[in-house]
Amino acid sequence: MLLTAIVPCYNEEEALHFFYEEMKKVMEKMQEVEFELLFVNDGSKDNTLQEIKKLADYDSRVKFVSFSRNFGKEAAIYAGLQYAGGDLVCIMDADLQDPPALLPDMYHAIVSEGYDSVATRRVSRKGEPPVRSFFARMFYRLINKISRTDIVDGARDYRLMNRGFVDALLELGEYNRFSKGLFGWVGFRTKWLEFENVERVAGETKWSFWKLFMYSIEGIVAFSTVPLSMASFFGVLMCGISALAIIFIIVRQILYGGSAFGWPSMVCIMIFLGGIQLLCIGVLGSYLSRTYLEVKRRPIYICKETNTIKHKEEQA
Ligand code: UDP
Ligand code: MG
Repeated sequence: MLLTAIVPCYNEEEALHFFYEEMKKVMEKMQEVEFELLFVNDGSKDNTLQEIKKLADYDSRVKFVSFSRNFGKEAAIYAGLQYAGGDLVCIMDADLQDPPALLPDMYHAIVSEGYDSVATRRVSRKGEPPVRSFFARMFYRLINKISRTDIVDGARDYRLMNRGFVDALLELGEYNRFSKGLFGWVGFRTKWLEFENVERVAGETKWSFWKLFMYSIEGIVAFSTVPLSMASFFGVLMCGISALAIIFIIVRQILYGGSAFGWPSMVCIMIFLGGIQLLCIGVLGSYLSRTYLEVKRRPIYICKETNTIKHKEEQA
């Protein structure tokens, strides 16, 4: 049985060494499995690639795929899935925030309990700025209300999957990728393991608040079309209100005669309606722009260098 661990790396030169040492311990413990460590260098600007090559020189289990520039973690995961040759595939961060020590349990759940995938979620967010946790929680509440796909709060991308699950993921060749949703979308039997948040071992996080915010919009647009129907909702609401207002004005005219006051209120109403219209056009635009990107069918990443071969081509 071959297990591929996909490790997306972006400027991780400091963390790589710790990661490898930690993985080595786990690999020694799990004698019954053969390992393949597949590092995806996502256009790092530091010496990450050199570090990976050093590891590859002295451990033949180390494979790598190196991008021509930074394409983002989602692209790195997708590339990893394509190049992974394992019967079991696992995705984990390079900074040890996804504890490799959980692997034996995850392996056990798939091999002897018959699950197709084992996912992990962190039950605490200690060590994270409170504002960030707050917005994260709000995001999960919102997206679960407006999307039919279940997206679990605190879920990590750390996950062990069998071949069937991986092949299903590879069939989703979309350009705007939101893995947390894709994992749920493909279905299968998934077991959830929980663990306490671990802080990053070295280096620093690659996600600014803004980047996370944009990522959350990505998630909403990719997994819900509710914002699109917002325009219709506001439209119906406003029609109703204006119908009542028209009746009111006609009745007043008949009972009390001509009066032409009220332009401040009129301006307020116009600005309000203008705002709603722009908002709805903006929402429309964000779906349209994603459709545009999707239609261009650009590749999700460009591989510049590798020491392994693609296991699966994109099937679409
Ligand atoms: N990562 C990546 N490409 C990016 C950003 C991040 O491959 O553009 C990788 C990064 O090297 C790490 C993982 O994604 O292995 C998670 O990133 P990070 O630890 O910075 O995120 P956080 O854990 O703070 O959410
Ligand atoms: Mg991290």
